[in-house]
Amino acid sequence: MPQDRYTSFVKSGFGKKLAKKLGLPQPVQLRRHTPGAPPVTGPVLVLSAGAGNAAGTGGTGSAASDADAVAGLLLNGLGSDETIDVRRSPHTAEGTRWGAVIVVTTQAEHPRDLSDAMLALGGTLRALASSGRVVFVSRDAADASSPAQAAVRQGVVSAMRSVAKELRNGATANALVLRDDATVTGTPALAALRFLLSAKSAFVDGQPVTISSDTGHVPQDWEKPLAGKVAVVTGAAQGIGASIAATLARDGARVVAVDVPAAGESLSKVANKISGTALQLDITSPDAGKRIIDHAVERHGGIDIVIHNAGITRDKLLANMDNARWDSVIDVNISAQLAMNEQFLASDRFRDAPRIVSLASTSGIAGNRGQTNYGASKGGVIGMVAASARALAEHGGTINAVAPGFIETAMTTKIPLATREVARRLNALQQGGQPVDVAETIAFLASPATGGINGEVVRVCGQNMVGA
Ligand code: NAD
Repeated sequence: MPQDRYTSFVKSGFGKKLAKKLGLPQPVQLRRHTPGAPPVTGPVLVLSAGAGNAAGTGGTGSAASDADAVAGLLLNGLGSDETIDVRRSPHTAEGTRWGAVIVVTTQAEHPRDLSDAMLALGGTLRALASSGRVVFVSRDAADASSPAQAAVRQGVVSAMRSVAKELRNGATANALVLRDDATVTGTPALAALRFLLSAKSAFVDGQPVTISSDTGHVPQDWEKPLAGKVAVVTGAAQGIGASIAATLARDGARVVAVDVPAAGESLSKVANKISGTALQLDITSPDAGKRIIDHAVERHGGIDIVIHNAGITRDKLLANMDNARWDSVIDVNISAQLAMNEQFLASDRFRDAPRIVSLASTSGIAGNRGQTNYGASKGGVIGMVAASARALAEHGGTINAVAPGFIETAMTTKIPLATREVARRLNALQQGGQPVDVAETIAFLASPATGGINGEVVRVCGQNMVGA
Protein backbone atom coordinates (compact mmCIF):
# COMPACT_ATOMS: atom_id res chain seq x y z
CA MET A 1 0.00 0.00 0.00
CA PRO A 2 1.38 3.46 -0.82
CA GLN A 3 2.15 5.62 2.22
CA ASP A 4 1.35 9.32 2.34
CA ARG A 5 4.32 11.70 2.67
CA TYR A 6 3.74 12.48 6.33
CA THR A 7 3.72 8.77 7.25
CA SER A 8 6.99 8.19 5.37
CA PHE A 9 8.49 11.23 7.16
CA VAL A 10 7.58 10.08 10.70
CA LYS A 11 9.06 6.68 9.90
CA SER A 12 12.46 8.22 9.04
CA GLY A 13 15.06 8.54 11.84
CA PHE A 14 14.74 12.33 12.21
CA GLY A 15 10.98 12.39 11.64
CA LYS A 16 10.41 9.68 14.23
CA LYS A 17 12.35 11.60 16.91
CA LEU A 18 10.58 14.87 16.06
CA ALA A 19 7.10 13.28 16.10
CA LYS A 20 7.81 11.69 19.47
CA LYS A 21 9.08 14.94 20.96
CA LEU A 22 6.14 17.01 19.70
CA GLY A 23 3.53 14.31 20.36
CA LEU A 24 2.56 14.21 16.66
CA PRO A 25 0.55 11.30 15.20
CA GLN A 26 2.68 8.28 14.31
CA PRO A 27 0.47 6.16 12.04
CA VAL A 28 1.45 2.56 11.41
CA GLN A 29 0.95 0.55 8.23
CA LEU A 30 -2.31 -1.38 8.71
CA ARG A 31 -2.40 -5.10 7.96
CA ARG A 32 -4.53 -5.74 4.86
CA HIS A 33 -6.06 -9.01 3.64
CA THR A 34 -4.15 -11.31 1.32
CA PRO A 35 -5.97 -14.21 -0.38
CA GLY A 36 -5.82 -17.38 1.69
CA ALA A 37 -4.92 -15.54 4.93
CA PRO A 38 -6.56 -17.03 8.05
CA PRO A 39 -9.45 -15.04 9.63
CA VAL A 40 -7.26 -14.21 12.62
CA THR A 41 -3.55 -14.43 13.37
CA GLY A 42 -2.46 -15.30 16.88
CA PRO A 43 -4.37 -16.70 19.85
CA VAL A 44 -7.87 -15.41 20.57
CA LEU A 45 -9.03 -14.78 24.13
CA VAL A 46 -12.78 -15.05 24.84
CA LEU A 47 -13.95 -13.14 27.93
CA SER A 48 -17.50 -12.82 29.17
CA ALA A 49 -19.58 -10.55 31.34
CA GLY A 50 -22.66 -11.78 33.17
CA ALA A 51 -23.75 -15.42 33.03
CA GLY A 52 -21.09 -17.89 31.99
CA ASN A 53 -18.09 -15.75 32.96
CA ALA A 54 -15.10 -18.06 32.46
CA ALA A 55 -13.06 -16.32 35.12
CA GLY A 56 -15.72 -17.42 37.60
CA THR A 57 -16.77 -13.93 38.57
CA GLY A 58 -19.76 -11.76 37.82
CA GLY A 59 -22.07 -14.50 36.59
CA THR A 60 -23.74 -17.79 37.27
CA GLY A 61 -21.40 -19.82 35.08
CA SER A 62 -24.15 -21.38 32.93
CA ALA A 63 -22.56 -24.11 30.83
CA ALA A 64 -24.44 -23.13 27.69
CA SER A 65 -23.32 -19.51 27.74
CA ASP A 66 -22.93 -17.37 24.63
CA ALA A 67 -19.22 -17.06 25.42
CA ASP A 68 -18.89 -20.85 25.24
CA ALA A 69 -20.75 -20.79 21.93
CA VAL A 70 -18.39 -18.13 20.54
CA ALA A 71 -15.37 -20.13 21.74
CA GLY A 72 -16.89 -23.18 20.01
CA LEU A 73 -17.24 -21.27 16.73
CA LEU A 74 -13.59 -20.27 16.93
CA LEU A 75 -12.47 -23.82 17.79
CA ASN A 76 -14.24 -24.92 14.60
CA GLY A 77 -12.20 -22.41 12.59
CA LEU A 78 -15.18 -20.03 12.16
CA GLY A 79 -16.75 -22.33 9.62
CA SER A 80 -13.62 -23.31 7.68
CA ASP A 81 -10.67 -25.65 8.11
CA GLU A 82 -8.28 -23.23 9.79
CA THR A 83 -7.22 -24.00 13.34
CA ILE A 84 -7.69 -21.11 15.74
CA ASP A 85 -5.91 -21.10 19.10
CA VAL A 86 -8.72 -20.19 21.55
CA ARG A 87 -8.16 -19.36 25.21
CA ARG A 88 -10.61 -18.62 28.01
CA SER A 89 -8.09 -17.32 30.53
CA PRO A 90 -6.09 -14.11 30.15
CA HIS A 91 -3.10 -15.66 31.94
CA THR A 92 -0.47 -16.69 29.40
CA ALA A 93 3.21 -17.26 29.04
CA GLU A 94 5.43 -14.16 28.91
CA GLY A 95 5.65 -12.78 25.39
CA THR A 96 2.24 -14.00 24.11
CA ARG A 97 0.70 -11.51 21.66
CA TRP A 98 -3.08 -11.77 21.41
CA GLY A 99 -4.40 -11.79 17.84
CA ALA A 100 -7.79 -10.78 19.22
CA VAL A 101 -9.80 -10.48 22.41
CA ILE A 102 -13.56 -11.11 22.19
CA VAL A 103 -15.73 -9.85 25.04
CA VAL A 104 -19.16 -11.49 25.14
CA THR A 105 -21.63 -9.35 27.09
CA THR A 106 -24.93 -10.72 25.77
CA GLN A 107 -25.88 -12.13 29.16
CA ALA A 108 -25.05 -9.04 31.22
CA GLU A 109 -28.09 -7.78 33.15
CA HIS A 110 -26.69 -4.72 34.94
CA PRO A 111 -23.81 -2.24 34.40
CA ARG A 112 -22.14 -3.83 37.46
CA ASP A 113 -21.70 -7.05 35.44
CA LEU A 114 -19.11 -5.41 33.17
CA SER A 115 -16.28 -4.72 35.58
CA ASP A 116 -14.47 -8.08 35.65
CA ALA A 117 -14.51 -8.54 31.88
CA MET A 118 -13.50 -4.93 31.18
CA LEU A 119 -10.62 -5.03 33.64
CA ALA A 120 -9.51 -8.40 32.27
CA LEU A 121 -9.61 -6.85 28.78
CA GLY A 122 -7.56 -3.90 30.03
CA GLY A 123 -4.93 -6.30 31.33
CA THR A 124 -4.48 -7.79 27.84
CA LEU A 125 -4.23 -4.61 25.78
CA ARG A 126 -0.48 -4.13 26.11
CA ALA A 127 -0.07 -7.66 24.75
CA LEU A 128 -2.38 -7.12 21.75
CA ALA A 129 -0.62 -7.84 18.46
CA SER A 130 -0.05 -5.11 15.90
CA SER A 131 -3.34 -4.73 13.89
CA GLY A 132 -4.93 -6.89 16.64
CA ARG A 133 -8.66 -6.93 17.23
CA VAL A 134 -11.05 -6.34 20.12
CA VAL A 135 -14.61 -7.43 19.34
CA PHE A 136 -17.53 -7.06 21.73
CA VAL A 137 -20.54 -9.31 21.23
CA SER A 138 -23.55 -7.60 22.74
CA ARG A 139 -27.32 -7.26 22.52
CA ASP A 140 -29.31 -4.20 21.42
CA ALA A 141 -30.43 -1.77 24.12
CA ALA A 142 -33.65 -1.27 22.09
CA ASP A 143 -34.70 -4.86 22.98
CA ALA A 144 -33.87 -4.66 26.70
CA SER A 145 -36.43 -5.84 29.24
CA SER A 146 -35.31 -3.52 32.06
CA PRO A 147 -33.62 -0.13 32.46
CA ALA A 148 -30.56 -1.85 33.98
CA GLN A 149 -30.29 -4.19 31.01
CA ALA A 150 -30.64 -1.27 28.56
CA ALA A 151 -27.98 0.59 30.53
CA VAL A 152 -25.42 -2.17 30.32
CA ARG A 153 -26.13 -2.76 26.62
CA GLN A 154 -25.79 0.93 25.73
CA GLY A 155 -22.75 1.17 27.99
CA VAL A 156 -20.98 -1.64 26.13
CA VAL A 157 -21.15 0.27 22.83
CA SER A 158 -19.72 3.42 24.43
CA ALA A 159 -17.02 1.45 26.26
CA MET A 160 -16.11 -0.20 22.94
CA ARG A 161 -15.77 3.24 21.31
CA SER A 162 -13.50 4.38 24.13
CA VAL A 163 -11.38 1.23 23.89
CA ALA A 164 -11.00 1.87 20.14
CA LYS A 165 -9.64 5.34 20.88
CA GLU A 166 -7.07 3.90 23.31
CA LEU A 167 -5.69 1.21 21.02
CA ARG A 168 -2.44 1.74 19.07
CA ASN A 169 -0.41 -0.09 16.41
CA GLY A 170 -3.29 -0.46 13.97
CA ALA A 171 -5.45 -2.41 16.44
CA THR A 172 -9.23 -1.81 16.29
CA ALA A 173 -12.29 -2.34 18.49
CA ASN A 174 -15.80 -2.98 17.14
CA ALA A 175 -19.01 -4.62 18.34
CA LEU A 176 -21.57 -7.09 17.05
CA VAL A 177 -24.94 -5.96 18.35
CA LEU A 178 -27.57 -8.70 18.17
CA ARG A 179 -31.28 -7.93 17.98
CA ASP A 180 -33.74 -10.34 19.64
CA ASP A 181 -34.10 -12.60 16.58
CA ALA A 182 -30.34 -13.05 16.13
CA THR A 183 -28.09 -15.54 17.94
CA VAL A 184 -24.31 -15.65 18.41
CA THR A 185 -24.17 -18.87 16.40
CA GLY A 186 -26.28 -17.57 13.49
CA THR A 187 -24.68 -17.31 10.04
CA PRO A 188 -24.59 -13.46 9.96
CA ALA A 189 -22.84 -13.39 13.38
CA LEU A 190 -20.32 -15.94 12.11
CA ALA A 191 -19.67 -13.88 8.96
CA ALA A 192 -19.42 -10.66 10.98
CA LEU A 193 -16.93 -12.24 13.41
CA ARG A 194 -14.83 -13.44 10.48
CA PHE A 195 -14.90 -9.95 8.96
CA LEU A 196 -14.18 -7.99 12.13
CA LEU A 197 -11.37 -10.31 13.25
CA SER A 198 -9.70 -10.32 9.83
CA ALA A 199 -7.51 -7.76 8.08
CA LYS A 200 -10.48 -7.06 5.76
CA SER A 201 -11.83 -4.68 8.42
CA ALA A 202 -8.52 -2.74 8.68
CA PHE A 203 -10.18 0.73 8.60
CA VAL A 204 -13.45 -0.17 10.39
CA ASP A 205 -12.96 1.06 13.94
CA GLY A 206 -15.22 1.97 16.86
CA GLN A 207 -18.33 0.66 15.06
CA PRO A 208 -21.35 -1.34 16.22
CA VAL A 209 -22.60 -3.74 13.51
CA THR A 210 -26.25 -4.61 14.14
CA ILE A 211 -27.60 -8.04 13.20
CA SER A 212 -31.40 -8.39 13.13
CA SER A 213 -31.84 -12.09 12.38
CA ASP A 214 -30.02 -15.34 11.63
CA THR A 215 -30.94 -15.16 7.91
CA GLY A 216 -28.00 -16.10 5.71
CA HIS A 217 -26.25 -18.99 3.96
CA VAL A 218 -22.79 -20.25 4.84
CA PRO A 219 -20.85 -20.06 1.55
CA GLN A 220 -19.35 -23.27 0.20
CA ASP A 221 -16.00 -21.53 0.05
CA TRP A 222 -15.25 -18.49 2.25
CA GLU A 223 -12.66 -17.41 -0.33
CA LYS A 224 -15.38 -17.19 -3.02
CA PRO A 225 -18.60 -16.23 -1.20
CA LEU A 226 -20.00 -14.50 -4.31
CA ALA A 227 -19.50 -17.42 -6.71
CA GLY A 228 -22.36 -17.53 -9.24
CA LYS A 229 -23.51 -13.98 -8.44
CA VAL A 230 -23.76 -11.05 -10.88
CA ALA A 231 -22.81 -7.69 -9.37
CA VAL A 232 -23.26 -4.19 -10.79
CA VAL A 233 -20.95 -1.42 -9.58
CA THR A 234 -21.67 2.20 -10.56
CA GLY A 235 -18.83 4.73 -10.78
CA ALA A 236 -16.43 1.84 -11.37
CA ALA A 237 -13.91 3.59 -13.66
CA GLN A 238 -11.65 4.75 -10.81
CA GLY A 239 -11.17 5.17 -7.06
CA ILE A 240 -13.38 3.27 -4.66
CA GLY A 241 -15.62 1.92 -7.45
CA ALA A 242 -12.70 0.28 -9.28
CA SER A 243 -11.61 -1.34 -6.03
CA ILE A 244 -15.15 -2.59 -5.30
CA ALA A 245 -15.30 -4.15 -8.79
CA ALA A 246 -11.96 -5.91 -8.24
CA THR A 247 -12.88 -7.11 -4.73
CA LEU A 248 -16.28 -8.51 -5.76
CA ALA A 249 -14.59 -10.29 -8.69
CA ARG A 250 -11.96 -11.72 -6.32
CA ASP A 251 -14.84 -13.07 -4.23
CA GLY A 252 -16.25 -14.88 -7.28
CA ALA A 253 -18.82 -12.45 -8.72
CA ARG A 254 -19.19 -11.58 -12.41
CA VAL A 255 -19.10 -7.80 -12.50
CA VAL A 256 -20.82 -5.17 -14.63
CA ALA A 257 -18.78 -1.97 -14.34
CA VAL A 258 -20.83 1.19 -14.96
CA ASP A 259 -19.58 4.75 -15.49
CA VAL A 260 -20.19 7.82 -17.66
CA PRO A 261 -19.13 7.65 -21.36
CA ALA A 262 -16.40 10.26 -20.68
CA ALA A 263 -14.68 7.69 -18.41
CA GLY A 264 -15.10 4.93 -21.03
CA GLU A 265 -11.42 4.14 -21.51
CA SER A 266 -10.59 3.59 -17.84
CA LEU A 267 -13.91 1.79 -17.39
CA SER A 268 -12.96 -0.77 -20.07
CA LYS A 269 -9.59 -1.31 -18.39
CA VAL A 270 -11.25 -2.00 -15.03
CA ALA A 271 -13.78 -4.38 -16.63
CA ASN A 272 -11.21 -6.23 -18.76
CA LYS A 273 -8.85 -6.78 -15.85
CA ILE A 274 -11.51 -8.73 -13.95
CA SER A 275 -13.16 -10.36 -16.99
CA GLY A 276 -16.30 -8.32 -16.40
CA THR A 277 -18.30 -6.16 -18.78
CA ALA A 278 -18.43 -2.37 -19.11
CA LEU A 279 -21.63 -0.37 -19.44
CA GLN A 280 -21.27 3.31 -20.34
CA LEU A 281 -24.19 5.04 -18.71
CA ASP A 282 -25.04 8.23 -16.88
CA ILE A 283 -26.95 7.00 -13.83
CA THR A 284 -29.14 10.10 -13.85
CA SER A 285 -30.83 9.01 -17.10
CA PRO A 286 -34.45 8.14 -16.32
CA ASP A 287 -34.11 4.57 -17.64
CA ALA A 288 -30.71 3.84 -15.98
CA GLY A 289 -32.04 1.02 -13.78
CA LYS A 290 -33.75 -0.68 -16.70
CA ARG A 291 -30.65 -0.42 -18.89
CA ILE A 292 -28.52 -1.94 -16.14
CA ILE A 293 -30.93 -4.89 -15.77
CA ASP A 294 -31.06 -5.43 -19.56
CA HIS A 295 -27.26 -5.42 -19.82
CA ALA A 296 -26.75 -7.72 -16.81
CA VAL A 297 -29.38 -10.19 -17.99
CA GLU A 298 -28.18 -10.20 -21.60
CA ARG A 299 -24.46 -10.52 -20.81
CA HIS A 300 -24.52 -12.51 -17.55
CA GLY A 301 -27.98 -14.05 -17.26
CA GLY A 302 -29.19 -12.11 -14.22
CA ILE A 303 -28.54 -9.52 -11.53
CA ASP A 304 -28.02 -10.23 -7.82
CA ILE A 305 -25.99 -7.38 -6.34
CA VAL A 306 -26.08 -3.62 -6.96
CA ILE A 307 -23.46 -1.29 -5.50
CA HIS A 308 -24.50 2.37 -5.76
CA ASN A 309 -21.03 3.89 -5.65
CA ALA A 310 -21.10 6.69 -8.27
CA GLY A 311 -21.02 10.02 -6.48
CA ILE A 312 -19.82 13.59 -6.89
CA THR A 313 -18.93 16.59 -4.72
CA ARG A 314 -19.57 20.23 -5.67
CA ASP A 315 -18.49 21.92 -2.43
CA LYS A 316 -19.43 25.54 -1.62
CA LEU A 317 -20.47 27.32 1.54
CA LEU A 318 -24.26 27.53 1.53
CA ALA A 319 -24.06 31.33 1.34
CA ASN A 320 -22.34 30.92 -2.07
CA MET A 321 -24.27 27.87 -3.29
CA ASP A 322 -25.91 27.90 -6.73
CA ASN A 323 -28.62 25.77 -8.30
CA ALA A 324 -26.29 23.77 -10.52
CA ARG A 325 -24.05 22.68 -7.64
CA TRP A 326 -26.95 21.81 -5.37
CA ASP A 327 -29.02 19.95 -7.95
CA SER A 328 -26.22 17.95 -9.58
CA VAL A 329 -25.10 16.50 -6.23
CA ILE A 330 -28.64 15.58 -5.20
CA ASP A 331 -29.34 14.12 -8.66
CA VAL A 332 -26.28 11.85 -8.84
CA ASN A 333 -25.86 10.91 -5.19
CA ILE A 334 -29.44 10.14 -4.17
CA SER A 335 -32.21 10.82 -6.73
CA ALA A 336 -30.63 8.45 -9.26
CA GLN A 337 -30.39 5.70 -6.62
CA LEU A 338 -34.04 6.15 -5.61
CA ALA A 339 -35.16 5.89 -9.25
CA MET A 340 -32.94 2.89 -10.04
CA ASN A 341 -34.05 1.00 -6.91
CA GLU A 342 -37.69 1.42 -7.96
CA GLN A 343 -36.85 -0.10 -11.33
CA PHE A 344 -34.84 -2.95 -9.75
CA LEU A 345 -37.59 -3.83 -7.28
CA ALA A 346 -40.22 -3.75 -10.02
CA SER A 347 -38.22 -6.23 -12.12
CA ASP A 348 -38.78 -9.96 -11.82
CA ARG A 349 -35.05 -10.45 -12.61
CA PHE A 350 -34.08 -9.00 -9.20
CA ARG A 351 -35.83 -11.41 -6.86
CA ASP A 352 -33.63 -14.09 -5.39
CA ALA A 353 -32.06 -12.68 -2.18
CA PRO A 354 -30.77 -9.51 -3.85
CA ARG A 355 -28.24 -7.21 -2.21
CA ILE A 356 -27.99 -3.43 -2.53
CA VAL A 357 -25.16 -1.51 -0.90
CA SER A 358 -25.06 2.30 -1.19
CA LEU A 359 -22.20 4.68 -0.57
CA ALA A 360 -23.05 7.19 2.15
CA SER A 361 -20.35 9.26 3.87
CA THR A 362 -19.45 10.39 7.37
CA SER A 363 -20.38 13.88 6.03
CA GLY A 364 -23.92 12.53 5.74
CA ILE A 365 -23.84 11.74 9.47
CA ALA A 366 -21.78 14.50 11.09
CA GLY A 367 -22.16 17.24 8.46
CA ASN A 368 -19.20 19.06 6.97
CA ARG A 369 -18.48 22.74 6.26
CA GLY A 370 -19.02 23.51 2.59
CA GLN A 371 -20.97 20.28 2.03
CA THR A 372 -24.64 21.05 2.68
CA ASN A 373 -25.54 19.59 -0.72
CA TYR A 374 -23.33 16.52 -0.28
CA GLY A 375 -24.47 16.05 3.36
CA ALA A 376 -28.13 16.19 2.28
CA SER A 377 -27.50 13.60 -0.44
CA LYS A 378 -25.53 11.21 1.79
CA GLY A 379 -27.90 11.60 4.74
CA GLY A 380 -30.55 10.84 2.12
CA VAL A 381 -28.82 7.55 1.32
CA ILE A 382 -28.98 6.57 4.99
CA GLY A 383 -32.69 7.41 5.17
CA MET A 384 -33.40 5.54 1.93
CA VAL A 385 -31.60 2.43 3.11
CA ALA A 386 -33.47 2.28 6.42
CA ALA A 387 -36.83 2.80 4.69
CA SER A 388 -36.16 0.24 1.93
CA ALA A 389 -35.07 -2.62 4.21
CA ARG A 390 -38.55 -4.11 4.45
CA ALA A 391 -39.10 -4.10 0.67
CA LEU A 392 -35.78 -5.88 0.13
CA ALA A 393 -36.54 -8.38 2.91
CA GLU A 394 -39.73 -9.31 1.04
CA HIS A 395 -37.45 -10.61 -1.72
CA GLY A 396 -35.16 -12.31 0.84
CA GLY A 397 -32.65 -9.52 0.24
CA THR A 398 -30.95 -6.66 2.04
CA ILE A 399 -30.03 -3.03 1.53
CA ASN A 400 -27.30 -1.35 3.56
CA ALA A 401 -25.04 1.68 3.41
CA VAL A 402 -21.33 2.04 3.93
CA ALA A 403 -20.17 5.44 5.16
CA PRO A 404 -16.51 6.09 4.36
CA GLY A 405 -14.52 8.73 6.22
CA PHE A 406 -11.33 10.02 4.58
CA ILE A 407 -10.29 7.61 1.81
CA GLU A 408 -7.22 8.20 -0.40
CA THR A 409 -8.78 8.82 -3.85
CA ALA A 410 -9.01 11.49 -6.57
CA MET A 411 -12.01 12.92 -4.67
CA THR A 412 -9.95 13.64 -1.54
CA THR A 413 -6.88 14.95 -3.41
CA LYS A 414 -9.15 17.87 -4.42
CA ILE A 415 -9.35 19.01 -0.75
CA PRO A 416 -6.99 21.96 0.04
CA LEU A 417 -3.69 20.76 1.59
CA ALA A 418 -4.10 21.94 5.21
CA THR A 419 -7.74 20.78 5.50
CA ARG A 420 -6.76 17.50 3.85
CA GLU A 421 -3.95 16.80 6.30
CA VAL A 422 -6.22 17.50 9.30
CA ALA A 423 -9.05 15.36 7.88
CA ARG A 424 -6.63 12.52 7.17
CA ARG A 425 -5.13 12.43 10.70
CA LEU A 426 -8.20 13.06 12.88
CA ASN A 427 -9.21 9.47 13.36
CA ALA A 428 -8.15 6.79 15.81
CA LEU A 429 -5.84 5.19 13.21
CA GLN A 430 -4.26 8.57 12.32
CA GLN A 431 -4.35 7.97 8.55
CA GLY A 432 -6.62 7.92 5.53
CA GLY A 433 -8.21 4.64 4.50
CA GLN A 434 -7.58 2.88 1.18
CA PRO A 435 -10.31 2.22 -1.42
CA VAL A 436 -9.96 -1.50 -0.69
CA ASP A 437 -11.09 -0.91 2.93
CA VAL A 438 -14.45 0.33 1.66
CA ALA A 439 -14.57 -2.45 -0.93
CA GLU A 440 -14.00 -5.20 1.68
CA THR A 441 -16.86 -3.88 3.83
CA ILE A 442 -19.13 -3.81 0.79
CA ALA A 443 -18.16 -7.38 -0.14
CA PHE A 444 -19.02 -8.44 3.43
CA LEU A 445 -22.50 -6.83 3.17
CA ALA A 446 -23.05 -8.27 -0.33
CA SER A 447 -22.37 -11.83 0.82
CA PRO A 448 -25.13 -14.47 1.08
CA ALA A 449 -24.03 -14.98 4.70
CA THR A 450 -25.19 -11.54 5.86
CA GLY A 451 -28.93 -11.74 5.15
CA GLY A 452 -29.61 -10.74 8.77
CA ILE A 453 -27.93 -7.33 8.36
CA ASN A 454 -30.53 -5.07 6.74
CA GLY A 455 -31.15 -1.31 6.71
CA GLU A 456 -27.88 -0.58 8.52
CA VAL A 457 -24.97 1.81 8.05
CA VAL A 458 -21.40 0.63 8.59
CA ARG A 459 -18.80 3.36 8.77
CA VAL A 460 -15.35 2.81 7.29
CA CYS A 461 -13.65 5.82 8.81
CA GLY A 462 -10.89 4.65 11.15
CA GLN A 463 -13.16 6.07 13.90
CA ASN A 464 -13.32 9.74 12.88
CA MET A 465 -12.68 11.96 15.90
CA VAL A 466 -14.75 14.92 14.71
CA GLY A 467 -18.50 15.14 14.32
CA ALA A 468 -21.06 12.57 15.38
P1 NAD B 1 -14.22 9.37 -7.60
O1 NAD B 1 -14.58 10.78 -7.98
O2 NAD B 1 -12.79 8.96 -7.63
O3 NAD B 1 -15.06 8.35 -8.50
C1 NAD B 1 -16.46 8.48 -8.70
C2 NAD B 1 -16.83 7.80 -10.01
O4 NAD B 1 -18.25 8.00 -10.20
C3 NAD B 1 -16.12 8.41 -11.22
O5 NAD B 1 -15.55 7.40 -12.00
C4 NAD B 1 -17.24 9.15 -11.95
O6 NAD B 1 -17.04 9.20 -13.36
C5 NAD B 1 -18.46 8.31 -11.56
N1 NAD B 1 -19.69 9.08 -11.77
C6 NAD B 1 -19.94 10.35 -11.38
N2 NAD B 1 -21.16 10.73 -11.81
C7 NAD B 1 -21.69 9.68 -12.50
C8 NAD B 1 -22.91 9.47 -13.19
N3 NAD B 1 -23.84 10.44 -13.29
N4 NAD B 1 -23.12 8.27 -13.78
C9 NAD B 1 -22.20 7.28 -13.72
N5 NAD B 1 -21.00 7.44 -13.06
C10 NAD B 1 -20.76 8.62 -12.46
O7 NAD B 1 -14.86 9.15 -6.15
P2 NAD B 1 -14.46 8.13 -4.99
O8 NAD B 1 -13.61 8.85 -4.00
O9 NAD B 1 -13.99 6.83 -5.53
O10 NAD B 1 -15.90 7.95 -4.29
C11 NAD B 1 -16.78 6.89 -4.58
C12 NAD B 1 -18.00 7.01 -3.69
O11 NAD B 1 -17.60 7.04 -2.31
C13 NAD B 1 -18.81 8.31 -3.91
O12 NAD B 1 -20.18 8.02 -3.76
C14 NAD B 1 -18.34 9.18 -2.77
O13 NAD B 1 -19.28 10.18 -2.44
C15 NAD B 1 -18.13 8.17 -1.67
N6 NAD B 1 -17.22 8.65 -0.62
C16 NAD B 1 -15.89 8.87 -0.87
C17 NAD B 1 -15.07 9.30 0.15
C18 NAD B 1 -13.59 9.52 -0.04
O14 NAD B 1 -12.92 9.89 0.93
N7 NAD B 1 -13.03 9.35 -1.22
C19 NAD B 1 -15.59 9.51 1.42
C20 NAD B 1 -16.94 9.30 1.65
C21 NAD B 1 -17.74 8.84 0.62
